[in-house]
Amino acid sequence: MKEYDYLIVGAGLFGAVFAHEATKLGKRCLVIDKRKHRGGNVYCEDVAGIHVHKYGAHIFHTDKKEIWDYVNQLVEFNRFTNSPLACYEGRLYNLPFNMNTFYQLWGVRTPAEAKAKIEEQRSCYQSVTEPANLEEQALKLCGKDIYRILIKGYTEKQWGRSATELPAFIIRRVPFRFVFDNNYFNDAYQGIPKGGYNVLIDKLLEGSDVRLETDYFENRSYWDEIAGKILFTGCIDEFYGFRCGSLEYRSLRFEQQLLEMEDFQGNAVVNYTEREIPYTRIIEHKHFEFGKQPVTVITYEYPDNFEPGKEPYYPVNDARNSQIYQDYQALAQKEQRVLFGGRLAQYTYADMDDTIEAALELCKHELK
Ligand code: FAD
Repeated sequence: MKEYDYLIVGAGLFGAVFAHEATKLGKRCLVIDKRKHRGGNVYCEDVAGIHVHKYGAHIFHTDKKEIWDYVNQLVEFNRFTNSPLACYEGRLYNLPFNMNTFYQLWGVRTPAEAKAKIEEQRSCYQSVTEPANLEEQALKLCGKDIYRILIKGYTEKQWGRSATELPAFIIRRVPFRFVFDNNYFNDAYQGIPKGGYNVLIDKLLEGSDVRLETDYFENRSYWDEIAGKILFTGCIDEFYGFRCGSLEYRSLRFEQQLLEMEDFQGNAVVNYTEREIPYTRIIEHKHFEFGKQPVTVITYEYPDNFEPGKEPYYPVNDARNSQIYQDYQALAQKEQRVLFGGRLAQYTYADMDDTIEAALELCKHELK
């Protein structure tokens, strides 16, 4: 008889949901994480009473009622609605592309005028049948103004490459909204947990033992013996000693400032779409929770190349990496005692609602 039923490697959202469901069924869970805190990438640090999203802005949004009900059983959500702005050469534009944006770009006031303007802008590029790169694709989809002002520089900074060197498939479509509506998401439900994401994570981890600053790989043979089964939510290539190759990621670098002023930018998220400005956006955290503190905390977000020691943020889903991941997946399927889940073990980008859904799906099969 082992001390625990499950060792869960990673106290992020995936591991925490699994721990919650397993504990509810009387299973004994030990959750370990190499970081100093719980929550993985949704962790918030309290700075002057403001919940700072340490690993990038996190806005909960979903169209799945059952996932919305699931999180709302645990914590109340506020009414935050994501309405980011884009700043280009000192001028502000609303996102996503909607009637406000078209008015700011061209002075058009009605949907018919906006559609006609977009058609006029796109018409010059329709002779390109097979766009050879992202630039050609974006010009064909939206014409030169939107591409130049709102897409080109931002995308080039994100990927660290020129738009003419990026594959066309990165932009499949450019969604236009012909109403005056700045709500970024189309989903039925969105918000931020009242009190921040740590409240949600603490609720999920109630009843589990948690050990932080504990890296599974530093004492693997010990951890392998402590529980009947293991749920691993770390990087799958590391789990297998990189034997099929290293999976590539894009990383991010954050620069945080505490400012002695009430309000810096009047909005949670402002994107900077010029190539010459090295950061992609500035986050002002208090606006996620309608904070009234006398000070404010902002974070400059810089895209970064990934290398060992940096945080892996976005998977690079090209042919090479997809092949490597498939090779690891084949190894993972042979494991008897190890389950894999979460964004790092599945080498995927998943929003929080998808992460919760995937964890619940695993629970359905595993916890009978
Ligand atoms: P993680 O949160 O990464 O948790 C994995 C944990 O495993 C980490 O804590 C790590 O320290 C730990 N670990 C790894 N290896 C080991 C080891 N060897 N030993 C011990 N512990 C280990 N989703 C939304 O819905 N809305 C958003 O606005 C949003 N914004 C995002 C912004 C950014 C920049 C990024 C990258 C993601 C965003 N997401 C957003 C997605 C969201 O972050 C994920 O859905 C969620 O964090 C995934 O949880 P996870 O448990 O799979 O991974």
